[in-house]
Amino acid sequence: MINIVLFGPPGAGKGTQAENLKEKYNLKHISTGDVFRYNIKNETELGQKAKSYIDKGELVPDEVTIKMLNEIVEENMDSKGFIFDGFPRTEAQAEALNDLMDSKSTQIDAMIALEVPDEKLVERLLERGKTSGRKDDADESVIRNRIKVYYEETAVLKEFYKKENKYYGIDGVGSISEITERISKVIDQL
Ligand code: AMP
Repeated sequence: MINIVLFGPPGAGKGTQAENLKEKYNLKHISTGDVFRYNIKNETELGQKAKSYIDKGELVPDEVTIKMLNEIVEENMDSKGFIFDGFPRTEAQAEALNDLMDSKSTQIDAMIALEVPDEKLVERLLERGKTSGRKDDADESVIRNRIKVYYEETAVLKEFYKKENKYYGIDGVGSISEITERISKVIDQL
């Protein structure tokens, strides 16, 4: 299996890149944000638990998120590997992901981090908000809170994966295909 954590702040382009990479490398793309939005739309119990956090741009509690992620991985163990998009976002989630991979006798091969300046993130998210229908893209203060939460709670995970020699930083500014190329170079040498 080949398992990639696609990392970066909100608006870095993780979802867009994951769509290209899942085709190219035949991997299962798991976006925890997409799974939450699907559950909110379908008014499930999980959706109800997650909604208030997402609307404010806060993180959904680890317990809820980790349980959900474990279930999706379990259901897709026939795939060639995973692209994790938007997970892990806390150290507890990163530990849980390592435990899960261990339990499947596999591992995270790389954290590929898309680096984009903050003002560009806000600009991209406001632009996306015009068509995404996402409440958390529509309000600049929620966008700025998501970026703040990223720096306060999530960015530390770079150190987590650096310690494991799995961190690869990529310039996330450029055309979509240029960035796919940059990421592919990393994946091809794993
Ligand atoms: P995203 O689609 O990755 O931008 O995620 C949208 C929102 O879903 C985030 O702002 C969080 O509220 C929630 N979310 C997604 N992934 C996670 C995660 N791994 N841990 C906690 N909350 C998450």
